[in-house]
Amino acid sequence: MASGGPVEHGYPHLETVRAAITALYKRLSYDTVRTFATSVLPADVAFCDTDDLYLGAQRVAHELVRHYRLPDARLVVSFREMRHAASVELAAGPEYFVELNDRFRTHRRDIGAALAHEVMHVYLHRLDLSFPGVRDNEILTDTATTYLGAGWLLLDAFREDGASSQKLGYLTPEEFGYVLAKRSLVFGEDPSVWFTSAQAYTAYVKGMELARLDERQPPLTAAGWAGRRRYARDRRHGPSDSPQPGVRYAFSPDGVGRLRVSFPCPTCHQRIRVPVRGRVRARCALCRSVLECDT
Ligand SMILES: [Zn+2]
Ligand SMILES: [Zn+2]
Repeated sequence: MASGGPVEHGYPHLETVRAAITALYKRLSYDTVRTFATSVLPADVAFCDTDDLYLGAQRVAHELVRHYRLPDARLVVSFREMRHAASVELAAGPEYFVELNDRFRTHRRDIGAALAHEVMHVYLHRLDLSFPGVRDNEILTDTATTYLGAGWLLLDAFREDGASSQKLGYLTPEEFGYVLAKRSLVFGEDPSVWFTSAQAYTAYVKGMELARLDERQPPLTAAGWAGRRRYARDRRHGPSDSPQPGVRYAFSPDGVGRLRVSFPCPTCHQRIRVPVRGRVRARCALCRSVLECDT
């Protein structure tokens, strides 16, 4: 896991983040995703400066292993001088060695965040789920950590004051906020009460705006006036090979020459295809969302 350097903002990894959510549903199934309805709670990973460093880190690691339901995994946590924030050795198991940067010796409250990411590496390794390339695989790891209920810790580790800034993980604060918002819309959970960092809360609010925008894209009936107008115009033009910039739906002919439209599910981003014939109710086969469309 990386840390340090100037903090990047905005949504530079958005397409990979969305692909990661889809991949998670595909690999885990809807039913397994639903078992993660409760997040890791602050009390579960609390770590105060009077706690024994090693015993405390082991306890927090064990709590994350329990949260991800890795029954026989044993994490051995150690500290050393290193460039990265943390790393884990992905071997056959059941023992996994996690190394944390020495600075966590004196920043104990962020040990839960670092371990949330590293234990997710173990979880994905056991699922045999990965993205090609180190960068995309780290984005998958942060997205999965957040969607499955431990990533709010990573966002909460983002703090900025006049003199210094700190951020853990590969997503920008807004991207963490976005995934966290997607999660909270699915599970009806409000993570904002757990934040200790004001900047984390701000990023969550911004991420929620974007997550809500996903639910208001045409052809969904919740789409706004301008989007609907553009959709009607694009529909008149019929099938197009290259999707228009800024537009996530695409028209194509079905087998018998009628028009159909495909668009990403606002929850899991799997593409859904429906006939163009006015009001249509679609059900996403992957995340089971029921979508009211006006095609
Ligand atoms: Zn990592
Ligand atoms: Zn879906």
